[in-house]
Amino acid sequence: MKVWFEHREKLAPDIWQYFFRPERPVDFTPGQYTSFHIAQPLADPRGQSRVFTLTSLPSDRLVSFVAKIPSPCTPYKQALHNLNTGDELRLDDAMGDLVLPKSADIPLVYVAGGIGMASFASMLKQLLATREERAIFLFYAMHSRSEQIFRELADSYPLALKTIAITPNHLTAQEIKDSTPPDALIYLSGSERFVEELRSGLERLGTPHEQIIFDYFDGYTEL
Ligand SMILES: Cc1cc2nc3c(=O)[nH]c(=O)nc-3n(C[C@H](O)[C@H](O)[C@H](O)COP(=O)(O)OP(=O)(O)OC[C@H]3O[C@@H](n4cnc5c(N)ncnc54)[C@H](O)[C@@H]3O)c2cc1C
Repeated sequence: MKVWFEHREKLAPDIWQYFFRPERPVDFTPGQYTSFHIAQPLADPRGQSRVFTLTSLPSDRLVSFVAKIPSPCTPYKQALHNLNTGDELRLDDAMGDLVLPKSADIPLVYVAGGIGMASFASMLKQLLATREERAIFLFYAMHSRSEQIFRELADSYPLALKTIAITPNHLTAQEIKDSTPPDALIYLSGSERFVEELRSGLERLGTPHEQIIFDYFDGYTEL
């Protein structure tokens, strides 16, 4: 599907949200991701496409995602950041398992490392829009408070718990396990290292692997 760039919005230093107008409503479930293809030749060893998690709602007029624009960054990120209003990109079908379970009774644990928080934005927006209250325990790790994104969104949802860990404090699997219900579904999103460390830690503490859903934002060493 074709999408046209509309505008971008700075959320934090080096962190931006990009908005696009789709040719027709995008069919996805909140929490899913899709690939954004830039047509102009980029000379980028990683190619013309990157995967981003959608932060909008399926019913929104514009489709959006959040990306970090590090320095230095790849030709893809440079091109993304230099898009002009009306520039055309191509979008693939959305996919991914970081979505809400059908049963509203299952407690949910959202664990975000850096911009991994973007994985939970659309789900939280959906729950707010439908006025659905679920037991959500949020753990959010970052290097500095200035990196915090979707603060208002998280504050507007009646979370069961909100824990923010700022370096040098680190989130541990033990802390997550100790402060959440044993039957909770645990979502992990962040860099590969962040996700893998917590995933293996939680499994070592006896969390069944089917209770852990994860996605890592590849390409970044740190988030
Ligand atoms: C399921 C899934 C969901 C995802 N969702 C998101 C999302 O919502 N948002 C998001 O941002 N990403 C997301 N990603 C990751 C995304 O697809 C990209 O892989 C990621 O943004 C890195 O982009 P990039 O390769 O353009 O590298 P960059 O972001 O440009 O750079 C990555 C690292 O490489 C360094 N680097 C880049 N170029 C150079 C250079 N020339 N010399 C030295 N160092 C350099 C940078 O400084 C940085 O440390 C997701 C990935 C998956 C698999």
